[in-house]
Amino acid sequence: MIEEKEILREFKTLKGLTLSELRDFFISISEPKFRAEQVFKWMYGNLSDDFTEMRNIPKSLREKLSASFNLNTLEYSTSEVSPSTKTKKYIFKTNDSFKIESVVIPEQKRTTLCISTQVGCPLDCKFCATGLMGYKKNLSAGEIFDQYKLANQNYIDSEITNIVYMGMGEPLLNFHATVKSLRIFDEELTAKINLKRITVSTVGIPTKINELARTGLNVKLALSLHSCFEDIRNRIMPINKKYSLAENIEAIKNYSKKTNTKITFEYVMLDGINDRDEDIKALVKLCSTLPCKVNIIPFNSLEHMNPGGFAATLKPSPINRIENFADKLKEKNITVMLRNTQGDDIAAACGQLAYPETPFLRKGAL
Ligand code: SAH
Repeated sequence: MIEEKEILREFKTLKGLTLSELRDFFISISEPKFRAEQVFKWMYGNLSDDFTEMRNIPKSLREKLSASFNLNTLEYSTSEVSPSTKTKKYIFKTNDSFKIESVVIPEQKRTTLCISTQVGCPLDCKFCATGLMGYKKNLSAGEIFDQYKLANQNYIDSEITNIVYMGMGEPLLNFHATVKSLRIFDEELTAKINLKRITVSTVGIPTKINELARTGLNVKLALSLHSCFEDIRNRIMPINKKYSLAENIEAIKNYSKKTNTKITFEYVMLDGINDRDEDIKALVKLCSTLPCKVNIIPFNSLEHMNPGGFAATLKPSPINRIENFADKLKEKNITVMLRNTQGDDIAAACGQLAYPETPFLRKGAL
């Protein structure tokens, strides 16, 4: 139902159409096919939303297009930079007045943009702020792309080199728009970001992982693992009761083989829940069965959201346990990245994206 509505909405705008859809569009209005390449390059390569700038398009056609289409799917609302890490959090507003968040994370050798695929999220993972705000709607492919456009236009220190689909929402539950946005990034006319530098992160929806493998896009895949045990995963990520870890492992093995890519396991360190010796043992065993790396993430507090029940009891693992966990994996020759808590001081770190419920600036942050 949701998807059908979204598709109809998308076809009312050109922003979000893939190159082949844009060709169909121009053919349908009896224009030459090459107009598609021209408009595509303006929208996604030059990041232009203004038909009057598209000088290689005849004026009469530009006027016709601008009378029918608004290419601007998001409006820049505010942004905030963490003084310590330079991580920048943006609030963008959709044309139907929802607010979404994107984050730019500058590092030494790269600058990563973290984008949202839904307003809110239906998954209710117990450690995640977005889950606490619930699900509002799917973003269109245009709205997904325009986060990249607006971040570029409002981020001038360095160029965005990488994109992670790790903002608000579950990309594989908004499969149609997510894949369309990847197809747009995949075109040479678009930009400088190759799909090898794009990672889609999922809680694990096996049928959709298989479907993503069949698209031939070869984008990198991250699985939010967080525990190797079904019962623990059931507790912290209720969706696991529907799509078990076992089914997901089978799907990601297939994905890795088909796309010839390494899978990234994301692992948020929760005190006493997934940071025990038996967790290390199970993770080492899992890692021996497929090409992968492990991204260890310190748990970012949700205290600004005042969660209740089980969520309120979750605490970050102490730093020495996190380091020991990482060392034990490294000893077994597993590639481990210990993610720092970039942006923690502005509530922009992973799992803290929950505007408008999130106070924009946490107390004492600056
Ligand atoms: N729905 C997708 C993408 C969004 S979450 C997914 O689940 O993968 C992106 C990453 O942030 C995931 O690995 C998620 O588990 C992690 N995350 C969520 N809440 C967090 C928190 N409070 N602290 C640290 N990481 C968190």
